[in-house]
Amino acid sequence: MRVGIRREPLPGERRVAATPETVTQLTALGLEVQVESGAGIASGHGDAAYTDAGATVVPHLNAGDLDVYCHVRPLAPESAATLRPGTVTVGLASPASEPATVSALAAAGVTAFALELVPRISRAQSMDALTSQSLVSGYRVVLEAAIRFPRFFPLYMTAAGTIPPARVLVLGAGVAGLQAIATAKRLGARVSAYDVRPASADEVTSMGGTFVNLDLDAVEGTGGYARELSEDRAVRQRDLLAPYVAAADVMITTAAIPGRAAPLLVTHDMVAAMRPGSVVIDLAAETGGNVEGVVAGRDTPVPTRAGDGTVTLVGMKDAPSTMPADASRLFAKNVANLLALMTRDGQVTPDFTDEVVAGACLTHDGTIRHEPTAAAIS
Ligand code: NAD
Repeated sequence: MRVGIRREPLPGERRVAATPETVTQLTALGLEVQVESGAGIASGHGDAAYTDAGATVVPHLNAGDLDVYCHVRPLAPESAATLRPGTVTVGLASPASEPATVSALAAAGVTAFALELVPRISRAQSMDALTSQSLVSGYRVVLEAAIRFPRFFPLYMTAAGTIPPARVLVLGAGVAGLQAIATAKRLGARVSAYDVRPASADEVTSMGGTFVNLDLDAVEGTGGYARELSEDRAVRQRDLLAPYVAAADVMITTAAIPGRAAPLLVTHDMVAAMRPGSVVIDLAAETGGNVEGVVAGRDTPVPTRAGDGTVTLVGMKDAPSTMPADASRLFAKNVANLLALMTRDGQVTPDFTDEVVAGACLTHDGTIRHEPTAAAIS
């Protein structure tokens, strides 16, 4: 069967869905791999590296010649429509925000696997792109903050005086938040973190952070995810968070609810109450933002309430793409491992009795298999 690896068309997207290492893995499964010329350049892999690994490099993929189509970003509806019925796709699909693509995939009779839907169970960890890409984002976001922060992160005791460590507050302690805590600790900051799921307290502590315990009832949904707060509880949460925000030098927000807009955790007034020179980075900026007024891809100076300067509010955008080599290395392994799970004797044949395969399948045989997406679209 022929697997196509596309050159990502979205400007600014620098990742690729296969590396030379995973091409070797896929060809060892008996699959033939075609790579679109230049697909790996931004992540450090030239065409020759793919050829050496056993792929064929083509100027343009012809979707009609492929049995499997691998991508990073969700397909455009018009790309989905060019695929043959029965083609298997593997990549990110953003089903909640790309309904036109989902409908186009179903209409084209494509068997689409959305990496966002891979169940968060131990057996599927090697295919979990949400985790692998959040790891990259959580690391990168701290570096972005450190570059903008006009002070050191670590404590320095020098002959010229003592410099206290930066106080970093992380809101949302999922995969990205925990990685942010670990990275800020490695840089020497004093780190505290909050999450609405009480279960995250031990994880925060194990990363070296101090858990912020608000007097708010636990809100845990299914599968280890948070649930949306009612508006009055969201208001109370913001009130309780306000003093912690005001005391922070750097704040990183990562809170998310699957399939929903990001929860608003921090108001404009809360940001304005911080000290001048403070930095706020919102990793949820692309899905609505945790911080009022954030704009994805932009640094916004917010005047302090005291009138003594500004706080830099950063809307993080395309975070994993800012580290394309390692983000692609991990993403490509996720793709290859999911394909390996479905391949027998050189044929990709999804077995829907497997909960990972069934869970990750978005469309098949002309229908939308993922029930929440089907319900939202109908
Ligand atoms: P996510 O990206 O959906 O959300 C990030 C964090 O935001 C979560 O920790 C969530 O609790 C938090 N959050 C949501 N609303 C909030 C609010 N109002 N205030 C404060 N925080 C809020 O989450 P994620 O990083 O994908 O992880 C979700 C869960 O999945 C975690 O429990 C994680 O441990 C688990 N997980 C399991 C596996 C596995 O078993 N294979 C893999 C990865 C993650």
